[in-house]
Amino acid sequence: MNTTIAENLAQVHAHIQAACQAAGRAPGSVQLLAVSKTWGPDAVRAAHAAGQTAFGENYIQEAVDKITALHDLPLQWHCIGPIQSNKTRLVAEHFDWVHSIDRLKIAQRLSEQRPDHRPPLQVCIQVNVDGGETKSGVAPQDLPALAQAVAALPRLQLRGLMTIPEPAETDAQMRAVHRQAKDLLDRLRAQGLALDTLSMGMSADLAAAIAEGSTMVRVGTAIFGKR
Ligand SMILES: *Cc1c(COP(=O)(O)O)cnc(C)c1O
Repeated sequence: MNTTIAENLAQVHAHIQAACQAAGRAPGSVQLLAVSKTWGPDAVRAAHAAGQTAFGENYIQEAVDKITALHDLPLQWHCIGPIQSNKTRLVAEHFDWVHSIDRLKIAQRLSEQRPDHRPPLQVCIQVNVDGGETKSGVAPQDLPALAQAVAALPRLQLRGLMTIPEPAETDAQMRAVHRQAKDLLDRLRAQGLALDTLSMGMSADLAAAIAEGSTMVRVGTAIFGKR
């Protein structure tokens, strides 16, 4: 067993637990997504041996190779990177979740290409809450229409929202952005969508994200090391 990865995972879990406690939230109300991009199957095996089952990947072909190599393990694979049209079939066939839906065309293709023998693809819409110019993600004003359209697709199940905020200097700034994401989620719920997932928070803003209602944090470097 790779003790470094096991120790790192224990430390990240301790962080999550402390943040939950500080926020008055139940421990276990926040899921850890281990971001394994650029790391090989052995690193994922080590994390699985230490109890981790959900893994996030950005690069589709790399991920598919890894998913195939690790087919013997009961892992859950989350696509968290940008998806081009020519990659939707691979994503629909191999992943369990997609966090990075940012336009209807991609969602439609994923729904059409999801194999019948697999359960519906679990998806989040990526929302560009703070208007960062270099990022993908739907603008908040376009979110309600996109969410209704995605929720109507037969082979997808819309679960919630994902954000990648710009780096912020203070805890208050981070929390303000996370709060906006939570507000957007609550508004969609008020419009009748049954959503339960807020994928937000990475190493630097994990506690702030949990304080504002994150249900899934995405951590790579702190588990596997520097890429
Ligand atoms: C790479 C990545 C992460 C993890 O980042 P680390 O700095 O390695 O913890 C989380 N979310 C997304 C969308 C990423 O691309």
